[in-house]
Amino acid sequence: ECPGRLLELRGNIRVLCRLRPGIPSSLVRTEPGPGGTVTTCYRGRQRRFCLDWVFPPDASQEEVFRELEPAVLSCLGGYSVCIFTYGQTGTGKTYSMEGPPEDPGIAPRALQSLFREMGAGRQHGVTLSMVEIYNEAVRDLLAPGPPERLAVRQGPAGQGGVQVSGLTHWDVPNLETLHQMLSLGRRNRATAATAMNRHSSRSHALVTLHVASPPRAPGSTGTLHLVDLAGSERAWKAGVAGAQRGDPDSAQRLREAQTINRSLLALGGVMAALRAHRPHVPFRDSQLTRLLQPALGPGTTAVLLLQISTRPEDLGETVCSLKFAERVG
Ligand code: ADP
Ligand code: MG
Repeated sequence: ECPGRLLELRGNIRVLCRLRPGIPSSLVRTEPGPGGTVTTCYRGRQRRFCLDWVFPPDASQEEVFRELEPAVLSCLGGYSVCIFTYGQTGTGKTYSMEGPPEDPGIAPRALQSLFREMGAGRQHGVTLSMVEIYNEAVRDLLAPGPPERLAVRQGPAGQGGVQVSGLTHWDVPNLETLHQMLSLGRRNRATAATAMNRHSSRSHALVTLHVASPPRAPGSTGTLHLVDLAGSERAWKAGVAGAQRGDPDSAQRLREAQTINRSLLALGGVMAALRAHRPHVPFRDSQLTRLLQPALGPGTTAVLLLQISTRPEDLGETVCSLKFAERVG
């Protein structure tokens, strides 16, 4: 009922916060709404974090999407939009982004909303690509064969961004095909993870839609990136001791944790630099930020949906996530 509300919020990076429902806690208290706050009480110290939007603890998938829809639809006007879910593993990133079939999350709702807005005639050209980044290796989740590692090269000088050679871009004629391809990509992500003896929450998943404006109204191409980030927890402490003993599983987990940490730090660094209008934006510090460079420049919209836990044992990670949000938002 109030379209464009989110887009009007300050800056081109917005931070929204959603709690993993279930356990109410006096250690994590919220004042929901626009300009909402989260107050944590950790190691006897109270901290208050201000965000662009805080959802009430029982917020529905629909309520979350309602705040994101204006940003999603702006890609039809040729804009570039990036939506991230950020947080510790288990806080609901994938639930928010994908959701269970009976209660779909941001991605399926965004696609539905886009196709509804474009109308049945479908004069826009829509293409889809889907990759995952694991240990800085980029893989095509929609490749016809097994997901091979792709080479990422710097794009033409002056244009910024990168070229991912071999990445497939699929034409998407209708919503049904789009949904089918998304679930194919999701299955491929899970299969690849299993084959490599790891968990898919240790990789970033990027869904990218390019939406070209209709031929009779030529304009630029809008882009929507939906990014389910790897878990932000500092999990390596457990891995260090094992790795020192020569345990290969621990060594792998340690490496995963280090690369995830590095790429999330890079994302935070890029967002903070953009927000402060710094001349140097460190896009090249990770594959994630290299891939997203065209999507995160000036004139673009980025939305970070911060997922936090209220469980007392997660409090340290919850505070870390909120600090990340404070740095970028
Ligand atoms: P993450 O992707 O951050 O690791 P998940 O999305 O897998 O976390 O969520 C962890 C568990 O919590 C899943 O079983 C999921 O169904 C459940 N869950 C997360 N958020 C919600 C929510 N808002 N409502 C109901 N269940 C949720
Ligand atoms: Mg997940």
